[in-house]
This record gives sequence, C-alpha cells and structure tokens, in this order.
Amino acid sequence: RRNIAVMTSGGDAPGMNANVRAVVRAAIFRGCKAFAIMEGYEGLVRGGPEYIKEMTWHSVRGFLSEGGTNIGTARCKDFRERAGRLKGCKHLIEAGIDALIVCGGDGSLTGADLFRAEWPSLIKELRDTNQITAEQHETYKHLNICGTVGSIDNDMATTDATIGAYSSLDRICKAIDYIDATANSHSRAFVVEVMGRHCGWLALMAGIATSADYILIPEKPSSSRGWQDQMCSIVGKHRAEGKRKTIVIVAEGAITSDLEHISANQVKDVLVERLGLDTRVTTLGHVQRGGTAVAYDRIIATMQGVEAVKAVLEVTPDTPSPLIAIDENKIVRKPLVDAVKITKSVAAAIESKDFEKAMSLRDSEFLE
Ligand code: ATP
Repeated sequence: RRNIAVMTSGGDAPGMNANVRAVVRAAIFRGCKAFAIMEGYEGLVRGGPEYIKEMTWHSVRGFLSEGGTNIGTARCKDFRERAGRLKGCKHLIEAGIDALIVCGGDGSLTGADLFRAEWPSLIKELRDTNQITAEQHETYKHLNICGTVGSIDNDMATTDATIGAYSSLDRICKAIDYIDATANSHSRAFVVEVMGRHCGWLALMAGIATSADYILIPEKPSSSRGWQDQMCSIVGKHRAEGKRKTIVIVAEGAITSDLEHISANQVKDVLVERLGLDTRVTTLGHVQRGGTAVAYDRIIATMQGVEAVKAVLEVTPDTPSPLIAIDENKIVRKPLVDAVKITKSVAAAIESKDFEKAMSLRDSEFLE
C-alpha cells in the first residue's frame, strides 16, 4: 500500500483532468491513498495541506471530459534549483507520499527524472540537517516516480501521442474550416499560426487534415529564398488552376535553415508582394488549448493513468523510472530517462542545423 500523489505541470492540455481522475481512482481501487499536488511543482515547493491534498473517489467526479487541469499547473523557477527540489522532497515526506505521478510535457518530465536521480542525496541532506528523522530516512529511501505525457505539442520522444495533442488538432482543424468559408467567399489567403513550440506536429497534421496549400515546420527548413520560392510556386499554381482560397499554416517555431524565425506576418508579406493576394493572418493562440478533450485523449489519459498506478506499485529501486507511452496503439512503459534524452537531442540537432538527424529522431515517415 502506497500513498500516491499526482500532479499536472507545464502548459495545460485537454485530457490532463482525465489522467488525474484515472490515477486517483486506480490508486483508491488498489487500496492506496491518493493525493493531488496543486499548481504543479510550485505546490510541491510550497507544501502543506493547501497544496498537497488527499483526494477521494468523489473529488474527481466530472473530470473525464473537462479541458485544462482542475488541480492547477504552473511554471516553477524554484524547482529548477536544487534548493527548491530539497523543499519538495521534505514536503512529500511530511505528507507521507512515496510515489509521484507527473503529467506534463518534456520540461516537467525532465524535472521529474532529475528529482528521482537526486532523491538519495536530497534525503541524506535532510537527515544530516535533522529536517527528517532516521526512521523517515529509511522509510522514504526510494521515490517511485512515473511520467505521463500531457502536452498539446506532441513533442515527446518514444510516445506516438501526448495527452491533449488530438484535442488541440481538432480545435485547429475546426478553426481552419471556419476560415475556409470566408477565404472562399473573398478569394483570400489566410496565414494561420499554430502552437507546438519547437515541434511541427500540430502544423503538419492540421495541414493534412485541412488540405492546406503550404506548411512551414521547424523540422524541415529551407533557406529564406527557398521557402518563399516554393510557396509562391505552389500557391501560384493552385490559383492558376482556379482555386479561390489559400491556406498557409505556420508552426510557431518555424525557422529557416539559418535558424531565423519565420513569422506569420513575414509569410503574409510574401503572399501580398509576390502574388498580390489579399492576405490575412490568424493566430489561433489559446483557443487551441481550450474546450473539452476529444474521445482519443480521454481514452489514452484514462488508460495511461491506470497503467501509471500499476507501474509505481511494481517498480523497484533498480528499475528505471517509467514513462507511460502509447506505441503502435498499445499502452506501454518506456524508460523516462531515454524519452527525456531523445527529446533533448531533437532540439540539439535543430540548434546545430542537423535537420536530417532531427527528422530521423522525430517520426520521419510523416516528414518525408
Ligand atoms: P509544455 O510542453 O506544455 O510546454 P513542459 O512540461 O515542457 O510543458 P516547461 O515549462 O518546460 O513545460 O516545464 C514545466 C516545469 O517543469 C518548469 O516550470 C520547471 O518547474 C520544471 N522543469 C522544467 N525543466 C526542468 C529541469 N531541467 N530541471 C528541473 N525542473 C524542470
């Protein structure tokens, strides 16, 4: 029997609530106590009953479909420092928690991985400075930690989908369907900027699902001249064939092969100046995060929450911390440390202009 805590961290994503609900209920079902850490790592660093709350079966009623995260999330600077993590360690022990499930993006799970790696030295320091007893030191020798990936960006390695990505994609597609009508009516071009940070998945999939004329993503950049020529040639051809509307999707992280950011306004200027198109920019912004979770996100969030509880009950001090992933339609455990490492290498490959490598580390079959 364990005391299992769940938290959501980083950017909110539809399906995080479903994940919290599944963890709480699966923990109670297995005879454990369930806790929620409010406001992500901020709650862990602050501690106390206001931030670490015991949850009952009923506390998560209605969570399944709701967007956002009802237990709060935050970006927490203090947790990036050892002093902040030391406080977090003390607060978990004070609350009697010996297993932690973190639902968040790559940053949050990097933090989780570091926390687990540091745990022995953190509890030693707490013991040496008499902040915990020798008995507590012995009881909380190991922190069982497990990650579930909640992020609209779908940017985490070793999982096919992150919780929230399909809900966000659905919202983007609906918004573009609305824009289509006005684009068609006025024979306009629309440049739509979508989220995704350094990952082009949302832009690429939205482009396929709405048959966009051109898509700009960070993983497949070309020179400044290159993308402009290619876009104008494709859009020009579509227009010559009688198409009345033009949709160009720009990932917020779109770059040139010289790593210069490409903004939606820059794309608009090219369409206006070179093709003479009446062009508008639509930045979808936070609507992409809003609303209820689509069925797929509810399903993976629930199944992964149940698996996360199983994992923390089974993992021994010698097994690496797991990340609960979906791989070829199966809910599986992957080493958290690997997922974090590969995700970081994609960013490093892009920074060093090794786009081939970035593509092969991401799902290259989508990007060819
Ligand atoms: P999203 O993908 O939605 O942006 P994310 O989890 O990647 O979510 P971040 O802002 O990168 O979002 O991280 C969330 C929090 O995780 C940070 O505010 C910080 O508290 C913690 N964190 C991130 N990186 C680290 C790190 N290297 N070490 C310790 N903690 C970290």
